[in-house]
Amino acid sequence: MSAYLDHAATTPMRASARAAWIEQSERGGNPSSLHTSGRAARAVVEESREEIAGALSARPSEVVFTSGGTEADNLAIKGTYAARLASVGARRLVVGGIEHHAVLDPVEHLVKAQGAEVTWLEPDRCGHILVDDLRAAITPVLASANSANSADGANSADGADGADAGGVAVVSVMWANNEVGTVQPVAELAAVAREAGVPFHTDAVQAVGQLPVDFAASGADLMTVSAHKVGGPVGVGALLARRDARLVPLVHGGGQERQVRSGTLDAAGIRAFAVALTEAVAERDVEAKRLTVLRDRLIGSALGLELGISVSGCWTEGDATDRLPGNAHLLVPGCEGDSLLYLLDAAGVECSTGSACQAGVPQPSHVLLAMGYPEAEARGALRLSLGHTSTDGDVDAFLAALPGVVERARRASGAA
Ligand code: PLP
Repeated sequence: MSAYLDHAATTPMRASARAAWIEQSERGGNPSSLHTSGRAARAVVEESREEIAGALSARPSEVVFTSGGTEADNLAIKGTYAARLASVGARRLVVGGIEHHAVLDPVEHLVKAQGAEVTWLEPDRCGHILVDDLRAAITPVLASANSANSADGANSADGADGADAGGVAVVSVMWANNEVGTVQPVAELAAVAREAGVPFHTDAVQAVGQLPVDFAASGADLMTVSAHKVGGPVGVGALLARRDARLVPLVHGGGQERQVRSGTLDAAGIRAFAVALTEAVAERDVEAKRLTVLRDRLIGSALGLELGISVSGCWTEGDATDRLPGNAHLLVPGCEGDSLLYLLDAAGVECSTGSACQAGVPQPSHVLLAMGYPEAEARGALRLSLGHTSTDGDVDAFLAALPGVVERARRASGAA
């Protein structure tokens, strides 16, 4: 058995979720059908919706089921952009510079295909997006919102369209980063956007199950979640959307989800999502503490091997509020992350470099580059992510394999 240290990519399905998935698959029924099995499937979907909403402090009517995090991010960005362009002519997107590609790519698509403009919010060295930077990026919007307020006494903070015509369509900043695990000040960022009357989206895919995630208290208008990061199945997720959030649908058809997202609802996947999420949230407090201890041992021991390894971003031992409890991200000088990954895999340790390949060519991570790391340093990145099945044995296996792997990877790159 390999030591699996790639829970940020996907985490094994929980036994309870698998059982629920099989049970509902065997029952069948289309939740939109009017006969008995259709109504039974609908009841399962609505019960699951309530559970998911409850686990995330949202209202059931705010849960829009999707095929996963990628679709939810696309709907949030493109759907809000289209709605705000139509209603107030807003063309600008204000987006964190270290977002997942599920956010970055729809933004870049809108720029190329639809003439959108974008203001990227660059992170500091730890990967934080600064509240003052967001404030500065939407200052003209804030100014016009304030003057509209004083002119007519209206409260633009409740999303009143029109106060910022020609301005910002949507702000999107992720709750926690998928590569380096940095946690963002979501509530403060959302408050700045709200003051300007601009919808705020956050991708909470990596945060849910590791951090307390309260949709209502966060002040976000839109929030992305995905089942397979909390022990549910791949291929189901949700966009939480406040009732007053305006979204133009991307997928047209039967209009199943509030007319915002069409497609037959995956009752089995949704049931398993609800079961996995409920369990992950119930265990979160205890599990976050356990993972923090494992993470700290992994990082501390790797740094102590005297291989020149450093930890990316900011790491404070014992802290699980600023860096995800399950995230360890190391930089190994003189190595290609990909070589490390393959050599570790051969040694029975599965992990990731954290960043994507393009056309088979490993790219230095846009996250590390945005955080100010030089390309040469960013190339030696290794992400070890822990989750609900992680054990001390997994960490031991990694630490035992690491010195030999680093030596071979350095030889391969000509650095040793
Ligand atoms: N957003 C973040 C931060 C992620 O880490 C991921 C998956 O890696 C996604 C979005 C995409 O979610 P999904 O795999 O459900 O499409």
